[in-house]
Amino acid sequence: MKKLLKPNVPIAFVVIGCLLFSVTPTAHDFVSSEHHVFKKWRTDLIKKVHKDHWDIGYRYGDDCKVDNRPEAKDLEEAITKALQIWLQPLRDMKTKQPIINDFRYQRQADLRIDNRKHLDLGVSFYCDPKGRSGARISEDPNVPPHVVIDVGTDVNDQVFIFVLIHELGHAMGLGDTYTLRVANWTTKGGLEVTRGTQPAAVMAFHLYPRTKQYLSEDDKNGIIWLYKVEYEGLDPADCFFPNYEFEKTPEGCVPKYPLIFEIRQGHEGYALRVLEDDKNIDINAQDSIGFTALHYAVKGGHILVIEALLARDEFNVNLRDESGSTALHYAVLKGSPEVLALLLSHPDIWIRPRNKAGKSPITLARDLGNDALVDKLKNHPNQRLAVSGKKKLTTTWASLKRR
Ligand SMILES: [Zn+2]
Repeated sequence: MKKLLKPNVPIAFVVIGCLLFSVTPTAHDFVSSEHHVFKKWRTDLIKKVHKDHWDIGYRYGDDCKVDNRPEAKDLEEAITKALQIWLQPLRDMKTKQPIINDFRYQRQADLRIDNRKHLDLGVSFYCDPKGRSGARISEDPNVPPHVVIDVGTDVNDQVFIFVLIHELGHAMGLGDTYTLRVANWTTKGGLEVTRGTQPAAVMAFHLYPRTKQYLSEDDKNGIIWLYKVEYEGLDPADCFFPNYEFEKTPEGCVPKYPLIFEIRQGHEGYALRVLEDDKNIDINAQDSIGFTALHYAVKGGHILVIEALLARDEFNVNLRDESGSTALHYAVLKGSPEVLALLLSHPDIWIRPRNKAGKSPITLARDLGNDALVDKLKNHPNQRLAVSGKKKLTTTWASLKRR
């Protein structure tokens, strides 16, 4: 949902961020082709986050009748809220200079270039939705970003807020982070209608409907990455975050473990989507601390993901993290009867693996005073199953479920 350096737009502008009408996205994840031109953008807001205040102009579209306009105060609050959402990850970094926290608003009758040169940001709100939402970022150092919001007049509507955050993400300097799937492109852990490894994000327009979150980890990583490139000399090809890797086609940084990336954030719906979408994804992948998708699903109590993983024949239910703990250790600590019942019904589950602290799931249950669980584990048919060596698989979870 963006247009990038299209020959039919004035040369001084990069027109991006068209949420509702463009179908020609090309960028991919937070290091996108757009970011490689961001240095041409003289006035994106990342370059101004250490100013003492921003002057923000906003106007009603010509279609806004007096009686269906949002209140000016409400619009100002909505803009401030969306900007603060983007600035919070930078505040959390504890940068040496303070992050902007003073926003001064001016109502404008017109935001044409000559009328907004004195501003840091211009925002136009239309009242009769026609899908014109978008963001214009200029190469002209005298022209500030201009964001257009065209999703109705209810500032309390979460979609309104979501679109405002998305478009202000462009004004900050971020690109769209998704690609649409076209013929002969295949996913490798991406979401529906994407290609490649595409995480859920507000800049991917894949977040709010399922999670009700404003920013995902990918969005936060994107704004932090942008800051580091702008102020700390980070190479734009350096992904910075350890669980990301650079991908050339399409160019960008992508999570190494897309399934883990989603479930770690509690995105159960997206994790299921990834599992369904990519039959070849490595469901036994382990991240930098040895956690598998199952470890995260158990810790988060994501029953549907646990069921989906256990149903796969190639799934290894007994992988250990860096502390030597299997998912069953965490299931015992969490104490959810439903999660425990699922794991304990898997034909390969180890009952007595010891972690590096020498604790087995049984000792953990005993430490917790959960005598019923201790009895259940001790009486489990697998409690004498060896915890090393090659497993002898005589039955699969899938076949078990069919009985
Ligand atoms: Zn966009």
